[in-house]
Amino acid sequence: MPLKLPPGKNLAVSISADFDAHAVWMGSFGTASPSFLSRGEFGAEVGVPRLLETFARYDIQTTWCVPTHTIQTFRRQCQDIVEHGHEIAAHGVYHEYIPKLEADEERRLMELQISQHERLLGRRPAGYRSPAWDFSDSTLGLLEEFGFSWDSSLMGRDFEPYRPRPVVSQSREEGNTFGEPSSLLEIPVSWYLDDFPPLENLPRSVGMAATNDVLSRWTDLFNFAYQRVPNGVFALTLHPQTIGRGHHLLMLEQFLDHVSSHYGVWFTTLSDIADCWED
Ligand SMILES: [Zn+2]
Repeated sequence: MPLKLPPGKNLAVSISADFDAHAVWMGSFGTASPSFLSRGEFGAEVGVPRLLETFARYDIQTTWCVPTHTIQTFRRQCQDIVEHGHEIAAHGVYHEYIPKLEADEERRLMELQISQHERLLGRRPAGYRSPAWDFSDSTLGLLEEFGFSWDSSLMGRDFEPYRPRPVVSQSREEGNTFGEPSSLLEIPVSWYLDDFPPLENLPRSVGMAATNDVLSRWTDLFNFAYQRVPNGVFALTLHPQTIGRGHHLLMLEQFLDHVSSHYGVWFTTLSDIADCWED
């Protein structure tokens, strides 16, 4: 079931930014040493303004997925993001690792982040991206209950949104069973379309790849989507603390030159893309 894109548009392109700042190190990596925190600070102080300038130059509207820890720690940058006309979506409180949370704690953090978005940004987030792109068995139900219209954390498709189905029973010997499709729309992500794992220097992975390798992969995936998935969605995930480094930003701009040279590409927010879905 494809998206119904505006007239003249063939492919929706989301260049989203996950503005994790300090929270990714504290929540996902369990380290809050001055050096790791300074990498988050670089994302806020240098990465965000550079990325906002690039997005403005290419006239791209996009979605920023921001933990409420970042919204509170880097208020001015989040205000700048809003003033540039971008959307801010939910991305946890402190980049908490969802599968490890007790059900009560996951519910408490869901309520807390929504109230913090309302208090600090004046609006309820329409969409959610889970920190580190993982769910517990409760997450999908919580997102439905709290009225989110879209999620962008799962990988059951690549270039088409879909209604995710929970796996309601698992048996190694008798197979797994899906439940009913969710009312939520999933706009899928991909680890192949994320700057953080290949380009960062991470405690538990290789990273620091050559920009040519990453650019080549992103370009191949865009070409595939453009040529073979009409009315699809291409969703790239960036992190200001990663893509904001000079050599990475030059790579991103080469990629944006390639994408924007194609007829019918629609750069927009994840909420705009979700609004185009018709069952
Ligand atoms: Zn994140």
